[in-house]
Amino acid sequence: MKDLTINTATAYDLPAAFVGRHLIDGAWVDGAAWFERISPSHEVVVSRSAMAGEAETVAAVAAARRAFDAGVWSRISGKERATVLLRVADLIEANVERIAVQETLESGKPISQSRGEVGGAADLWRYAAALARTSHGDSHNSLGDDMLGVVVKDPIGVVSIITPWNFPFWILSQKLPFALAAGCTVVVKPSEMTPSSTIMLGELLIEAGLPAGVCNIVLGYGQPVGSMMSTHKDVDMVTFTGSTAVGKLITQASSGTLKKVALELGGKNPQVIMPDADLENAADAVTFGIYFNVGQCCNSSSRIIVHEDIAERFVARVVELSRQVKFGDPLDDSTQVGAIVTAEHNAKIDGYVQDAIKAGAKVELGGGPLPVDGLGPQFYQPTVVTNVTPDMAIAREEVFGPVLTVLTFKTLDEAIALTNDSDYGLSAGIWSSDIHTCLEFSRRAHAGTVWTNTWMDGYPELAFGGVKQSGQGREIGKYGYDEFLEVKSVVMRVGRDSRAPWVEASA
Ligand code: NAD
Repeated sequence: MKDLTINTATAYDLPAAFVGRHLIDGAWVDGAAWFERISPSHEVVVSRSAMAGEAETVAAVAAARRAFDAGVWSRISGKERATVLLRVADLIEANVERIAVQETLESGKPISQSRGEVGGAADLWRYAAALARTSHGDSHNSLGDDMLGVVVKDPIGVVSIITPWNFPFWILSQKLPFALAAGCTVVVKPSEMTPSSTIMLGELLIEAGLPAGVCNIVLGYGQPVGSMMSTHKDVDMVTFTGSTAVGKLITQASSGTLKKVALELGGKNPQVIMPDADLENAADAVTFGIYFNVGQCCNSSSRIIVHEDIAERFVARVVELSRQVKFGDPLDDSTQVGAIVTAEHNAKIDGYVQDAIKAGAKVELGGGPLPVDGLGPQFYQPTVVTNVTPDMAIAREEVFGPVLTVLTFKTLDEAIALTNDSDYGLSAGIWSSDIHTCLEFSRRAHAGTVWTNTWMDGYPELAFGGVKQSGQGREIGKYGYDEFLEVKSVVMRVGRDSRAPWVEASA
């Protein structure tokens, strides 16, 4: 481990534990019970949150339903909604530091990344505000002289938003401003591991003037809160980001009321490296793609597929770069990779690596927990594994850690077959200097996003989502916004006395 780059604990005063309450109908509500989050890196209690049960969840859904039906948000103009969303964006920017520190303490991610995530989310709110004013349906005046057809878009209604722990503020901002822009009212449940930034956002929503009951937040666990949010008859749609396993449970639970379900789930995302690629750039992007958020990222490029002629050289360069990535104290400004979310998850990551070794894989770097002086035990070494076969669990399942798996290929067809040989289909990438190779890959890869000669660039304008078991529906962009709308056709007769009677009435 001497050859890794590790930032050990630095001197700072940790803030007092954040206290979070439910936001129901515009009021902060205590829980009958409370739960705590212990920082994965610093091993101290960093938040105490009210824990919702059935009563709080029912009250939150009822408040969202009342607000929707009263029209205080759903029936005001897009301009008025946009004004509030733009105020929220400004308030987010004014509160980046406070939210980012809490995000880092609860998730274990580096502070520089939290700042980028929280500050960057303001742009999603601004983009959604623009959609609130510019979205429209269409009209049909070609139906005959006496008919006019208008297709309008209505807010879908009450939306349950359930989010994971790995990008709590960002993922909420991929959903909430778009749902609000559309005129929906919502009930939000953040992960029990990272509840506080959602509550901080709730405070900003009130300050921005969002009417009571439009956004309700309940804190707690999948059972009973998330489950009730998926089954309640007064909820019209569930939008969920999290594991594929829980996504399936939500789909089953929601089927009783046939509500709409949008799912952003796991991934096992490949990057294909062709021999004609800019290999230095590709090696850097692969290093970024696997260690960003300690690999605890739906878009983690945990599976690289390298042409066999360059595999040895390319892997050696990735290993060299991996040694220079700054792992360690998330509160150190220069840290690039922080802690693993829980001790159980750290052990699970190690289990994948040890099983792969037993099955014949070779560890080129890392392969075990990473001790960081002055901090807790929840860190894992940057790890690169070769001699992997496509059937090994480490090549098929979402390891969700800083563990890179290397597969090799001879032809583009073989690389595309390996790309698509997965239950997942969130994102895929290719590195090549040949535009035709990039285009062919883009057309044939089964993935919601394809990156060519880049990795993990995203924009509010571009839809995001997965195919196969990576999910259904799309987020952000115009397509993400449309998920929160129902399409209604209005058919109007315009000519006087133009309707031919159906009954030939005698008198
Ligand atoms: P998770 O599925 O364990 O939990 C996500 C949320 O679901 C949490 O709020 C949790 O409390 C809640 N939940 C748990 N059981 C529930 C139930 N029965 N009904 C309703 N809600 C329930 O996921 P996680 O560990 O928080 O996040 C990691 C996972 O999320 C990974 O699989 C990752 O790939 C995925 N993810 C996907 C995307 C994407 O955009 N595709 C983005 C980020 C994370």
